[in-house]
Amino acid sequence: MIEYICLLLIVSQVILLLISPRYRLIWPFSVYYKKVFHPLIQDNKKFKIKFYIIPIFYFVLYLYLIYCYYSKVAPFINNQLWAFEKYMWIPLIIIASPLIFGVFTMFTKPTYTKKYSDEIDNEYAFDNLIFYPQILCRTCQSYKPARSKHCSICDRCVLVADHHCIWVNNCVGKGNYTYFYMFLITNTFSLTYAFIRLLTIFYTTNVYLPKNTLTLTILCGCFSVICGIFTFLQLNLAQEGMTTNEKDKWFTVHEFMRDGKLVRTQSGRWYFADPHDSDISEDSVFYSTNGYDHTEYTLRNFEIIEDPSRITNIYDRGDFLANLRDLCK
Ligand SMILES: [Zn+2]
Ligand SMILES: [Zn+2]
Repeated sequence: MIEYICLLLIVSQVILLLISPRYRLIWPFSVYYKKVFHPLIQDNKKFKIKFYIIPIFYFVLYLYLIYCYYSKVAPFINNQLWAFEKYMWIPLIIIASPLIFGVFTMFTKPTYTKKYSDEIDNEYAFDNLIFYPQILCRTCQSYKPARSKHCSICDRCVLVADHHCIWVNNCVGKGNYTYFYMFLITNTFSLTYAFIRLLTIFYTTNVYLPKNTLTLTILCGCFSVICGIFTFLQLNLAQEGMTTNEKDKWFTVHEFMRDGKLVRTQSGRWYFADPHDSDISEDSVFYSTNGYDHTEYTLRNFEIIEDPSRITNIYDRGDFLANLRDLCK
């Protein structure tokens, strides 16, 4: 009986919490929203300890997999493994992926900009399409170099920013791309290896295997798929010569182009036409592609850009390896 009451209490609290943003003006939702939901979920400056929940979850899960393997599974399959595999390969991939590259990715801070300072070693030019010069960050008051982005969790502008990775609670940017890619690749590789190896042992052995072998196989299989998808998406961005942050910006530019609302003046400046304007003419209102500039422009001598090949990504070095080298240096 007591279990049901506890369960009911937990479920009701979670429901109240989840719907509190929707009904935040009505009591008791207002209390849940103000005291719990906002500070705990929405406010990045409060209870920063919450950002360590996912890295700890991942680390504990990984330790559980190692424990499960060495205490429950290895004694039954050791005789089917090669000596090299048993004593070198498996310990190496267990230690290399989350423990070495994970810790490096977590604790290597990317390059941050400084307040009111544009003196930063940034080799990237402003393309005057998705990045504009002389822009002061609204939040941290530093001059934003090309390819940078403000992170609300780190509370700073990050150079060549990709995203704030919740798995390691750190921003991925200039200075830690190598560790981040290695973290993704080694995780995917070691989990896939463990999954395939366990599967082959399952189907070829005649000896009894404990239940934990199946649990371990399923967990390795599921996480190898998740890590594989993350790795593929991230490497695909490198192939395209853009970061996750830039992908969103390029998406907006191409969306306006598809709608026939991206224009370029003879002087090479880029503008978006008013999305509500159905017919673009010289009387139309235009906005700069610079999100910090809210001026309404009227333009003369412009052309509507409809061909994607007319839009150049100057940060794309041309091929996958060149882009990867560029991000990792
Ligand atoms: Zn900033
Ligand atoms: Zn961050």
